[in-house]
Amino acid sequence: MRGGEDIDPGRRNALMTAKILDGRAFADTTRARVAEHVTRLRNDHGLVPGLAVVLVGEDPASQVYVRSKGRKTREAGMESFEHLLPADTPEGDLLALVERLNADPAVHGILVQLPLPDHVDAARVLDAISPAKDVDGFHVLNVGRLGTGQGAMVPCTPLGCLMLLRDHLGDMSGLDAVILGRSNIVGKPMAQLLLAENCTVTIAHSRTRDLDALVRRADILVAAVGRPGMVPGGWVKPGATVLDVGINRLPAEEEGGKTRLVGDVDFASAAEVAGAITPVPGGVGPMTIACLLANTVAACCRINGLRPPEGLTP
Ligand code: NDP
Repeated sequence: MRGGEDIDPGRRNALMTAKILDGRAFADTTRARVAEHVTRLRNDHGLVPGLAVVLVGEDPASQVYVRSKGRKTREAGMESFEHLLPADTPEGDLLALVERLNADPAVHGILVQLPLPDHVDAARVLDAISPAKDVDGFHVLNVGRLGTGQGAMVPCTPLGCLMLLRDHLGDMSGLDAVILGRSNIVGKPMAQLLLAENCTVTIAHSRTRDLDALVRRADILVAAVGRPGMVPGGWVKPGATVLDVGINRLPAEEEGGKTRLVGDVDFASAAEVAGAITPVPGGVGPMTIACLLANTVAACCRINGLRPPEGLTP
């Protein structure tokens, strides 16, 4: 169901129980397709895609992400190169490492884990990565290519959202898409991707007025704010497709001693109204690493003059 305008609001709850978009299952399928392609690259061309991940500092959450990325990279049959640097690594040393990775033929993707320590200029480091190996899609050249529709490396989280939306909706032409959040990592690239799908796109942010009225117009709602449960079900258009990118950790004391992850959308009330919705956890999150692997394979193909795999790139 796309719009839902014809539904009698009184019968809405009885009729609308959202389809749960299972990001874990979709990510498993995506990683299996990546692994198949890796096997083909190895057998037909003697190529092994390689991903280098650079972590500066000892942030526990970042360490978990980096370990998980390394494990999933190896599981897909690719090479993983992990560079764990102390928090006081000078910017010059980091730039020198990026240059070495740019020149290393075994490395096809480079990811510098954010956030970087304050003494490092993150933009300078990200722009030092070769655009061809920029699997996070944060290099200014890839940002420009995405904006002008020129086959860019696309940031992993919005790419994962796009894959989920295409799988669920197919053709999105003419749909109203509202994106909450205008970050370079999620909101802005998501807007570019949905524009390219011929959606009518609105980006909302902290200064947006009448947010509830805006959200109620959305056939597609992407919430990427970082505020637990800020979108109640009452804001959601009946039948809308809701992607909840937010990852918010509720403090232990509010949750009976156990931390709990929730999204930016109040899942219980939104699921009564939406046509489809991603849960948190288990929705958009798992797609991010799957898309990182897909981007690495695509980079390996392009660097070696081969066509990137269909369906794993925008
Ligand atoms: P940022 O903090 O960079 O951006 C948040 C955006 O939300 C900003 O544009 C901000 O507006 C906007 N915002 C803040 N308050 C409001 C409000 N009351 N109403 C409307 N908009 C508001 O966050 P990110 O984009 O990096 O991440 C967003 C969320 O997504 C976080 O929870 C993060 O953890 C999660 N995330 C999940 C990923 C995944 O793999 N699933 C990957 C990346 C992020 P303004 O610009 O005006 O300040």
